Amino acid sequence: MSATWEEASRCPRDGQFQGKVTSRKPVQGGGQLITLICPEDNCKYHEMGWIVQTRSDGSIPDVTPPDQREKFFPRTSMSSARKQMVHDALARQVELEQRPGHEVHG
Ligand SMILES: [Zn+2]
Repeated sequence: MSATWEEASRCPRDGQFQGKVTSRKPVQGGGQLITLICPEDNCKYHEMGWIVQTRSDGSIPDVTPPDQREKFFPRTSMSSARKQMVHDALARQVELEQRPGHEVHG
Protein backbone atom coordinates (compact mmCIF):
# COMPACT_ATOMS: atom_id res chain seq x y z
CA MET A 1 0.00 0.00 0.00
CA SER A 2 1.25 3.47 -0.77
CA ALA A 3 -0.14 6.87 -0.06
CA THR A 4 -0.57 9.91 -2.19
CA TRP A 5 1.06 13.22 -1.35
CA GLU A 6 -2.43 14.61 -0.89
CA GLU A 7 -3.06 12.08 1.92
CA ALA A 8 0.40 12.10 3.41
CA SER A 9 0.62 15.86 3.67
CA ARG A 10 -2.55 16.13 5.73
CA CYS A 11 -2.29 16.41 9.48
CA PRO A 12 -2.31 12.88 10.97
CA ARG A 13 -4.62 14.10 13.74
CA ASP A 14 -7.16 16.26 11.94
CA GLY A 15 -6.95 14.69 8.52
CA GLN A 16 -8.39 17.84 7.00
CA PHE A 17 -5.65 20.41 7.46
CA GLN A 18 -3.00 20.50 4.81
CA GLY A 19 0.42 20.48 6.45
CA LYS A 20 2.98 23.17 5.76
CA VAL A 21 6.33 21.97 4.46
CA THR A 22 9.11 23.17 6.74
CA SER A 23 12.06 21.26 5.33
CA ARG A 24 13.06 18.85 2.62
CA LYS A 25 16.02 16.58 3.12
CA PRO A 26 17.35 14.48 0.27
CA VAL A 27 17.89 10.82 1.12
CA GLN A 28 20.12 8.26 -0.50
CA GLY A 29 18.52 6.74 -3.57
CA GLY A 30 16.90 9.96 -4.70
CA GLY A 31 13.97 10.29 -2.30
CA GLN A 32 13.25 13.05 0.15
CA LEU A 33 12.32 13.32 3.80
CA ILE A 34 9.82 16.11 4.02
CA THR A 35 8.95 17.62 7.37
CA LEU A 36 5.51 19.16 7.72
CA ILE A 37 3.68 20.96 10.49
CA CYS A 38 -0.03 21.38 11.08
CA PRO A 39 -1.34 24.93 10.47
CA GLU A 40 -3.57 24.56 13.54
CA ASP A 41 -1.94 26.37 16.48
CA ASN A 42 -3.51 24.12 19.11
CA CYS A 43 -2.70 20.83 17.38
CA LYS A 44 0.19 18.76 18.71
CA TYR A 45 1.47 18.34 15.16
CA HIS A 46 1.88 22.10 14.98
CA GLU A 47 4.75 21.70 17.45
CA MET A 48 6.24 18.30 16.66
CA GLY A 49 5.29 18.05 13.00
CA TRP A 50 5.56 14.83 11.05
CA ILE A 51 7.74 13.43 8.32
CA VAL A 52 6.70 12.20 4.92
CA GLN A 53 9.12 10.20 2.86
CA THR A 54 8.99 10.30 -0.91
CA ARG A 55 10.74 7.98 -3.32
CA SER A 56 12.90 9.18 -6.19
CA ASP A 57 9.88 8.96 -8.52
CA GLY A 58 7.81 11.09 -6.17
CA SER A 59 5.64 8.25 -4.88
CA ILE A 60 5.16 7.84 -1.16
CA PRO A 61 5.68 4.62 0.78
CA ASP A 62 3.34 3.64 3.60
CA VAL A 63 2.63 6.47 5.96
CA THR A 64 3.05 5.65 9.62
CA PRO A 65 1.53 8.31 11.84
CA PRO A 66 3.80 9.18 14.77
CA ASP A 67 1.14 7.87 17.15
CA GLN A 68 1.51 4.38 15.74
CA ARG A 69 5.27 4.58 15.61
CA GLU A 70 5.41 5.28 19.34
CA LYS A 71 3.57 2.02 20.05
CA PHE A 72 6.53 0.04 18.77
CA PHE A 73 8.80 1.59 21.35
CA PRO A 74 6.77 2.25 24.47
CA ARG A 75 8.79 3.66 27.31
CA THR A 76 7.89 0.74 29.60
CA SER A 77 9.29 -1.90 27.26
CA MET A 78 12.45 0.15 26.81
CA SER A 79 13.15 0.14 30.52
CA SER A 80 12.21 -3.51 30.97
CA ALA A 81 14.53 -4.39 28.09
CA ARG A 82 17.26 -2.48 29.87
CA LYS A 83 16.49 -4.33 33.11
CA GLN A 84 16.71 -7.61 31.21
CA MET A 85 20.14 -6.58 29.87
CA VAL A 86 21.39 -5.84 33.39
CA HIS A 87 19.92 -9.12 34.60
CA ASP A 88 21.62 -11.03 31.78
CA ALA A 89 24.96 -9.37 32.49
CA LEU A 90 24.73 -10.32 36.17
CA ALA A 91 23.74 -13.88 35.32
CA ARG A 92 26.72 -14.16 32.97
CA GLN A 93 29.06 -12.88 35.68
CA VAL A 94 27.74 -15.38 38.22
CA GLU A 95 28.07 -18.13 35.64
CA LEU A 96 31.73 -17.19 35.00
CA GLU A 97 32.51 -17.18 38.69
CA GLN A 98 30.93 -20.56 39.22
CA ARG A 99 32.64 -22.15 36.24
CA PRO A 100 34.99 -24.98 37.23
CA GLY A 101 38.61 -23.95 36.85
CA HIS A 102 37.87 -20.44 37.99
CA GLU A 103 40.72 -19.56 40.28
CA VAL A 104 39.60 -19.27 43.86
CA HIS A 105 42.07 -18.20 46.48
CA GLY A 106 41.86 -19.60 49.99
ZN1 LIG B 1 -3.35 19.08 13.19
